[in-house]
Amino acid sequence: MSDIFCRIIAGEVPSMKVYEDEKTLVFMDIAGDVDGHMLAVPKKHVVSLFDCDEETLFALMSTVKKVSEHLINNCGYEGVNLLNASGKAAGQSVPHFHIHIIPRKTGDNIDAWPAFPGKTQEISDIYERIRM
Ligand code: AMP
Repeated sequence: MSDIFCRIIAGEVPSMKVYEDEKTLVFMDIAGDVDGHMLAVPKKHVVSLFDCDEETLFALMSTVKKVSEHLINNCGYEGVNLLNASGKAAGQSVPHFHIHIIPRKTGDNIDAWPAFPGKTQEISDIYERIRM
């Protein structure tokens, strides 16, 4: 599988690398939609949360935490939003697991939480369907 992120990891496509270790890479998102938008990816090709083994997931989330702490401790940010789309239905456009990291400051006016349309079913009905 050679999606765009595999090609970035392989060095075939240039990227602005923020952090890299044996198992993970964090680089700037080119969307230009919000300041500091980054993507954290596993170097191993996994499509999404659903086919990601625990070791890879742990490595990715450890990197997300490390970079987030760096943003807070060394870069003047105060918080982060972490976003992930797993599956086309959820809006995933690149088929290589990735966590969006959005650095935040108080009063930055970034709306990183969508205006949801409002529920169409009773919470208790959905709860009965999805409880484990
Ligand atoms: P998603 O819609 O959650 O799958 O997000 C895919 C993200 O990948 C988008 O925010 C794109 O801007 C970003 N993206 C696509 N190609 C590149 C690239 N070559 N370098 C950096 N970011 C990219």
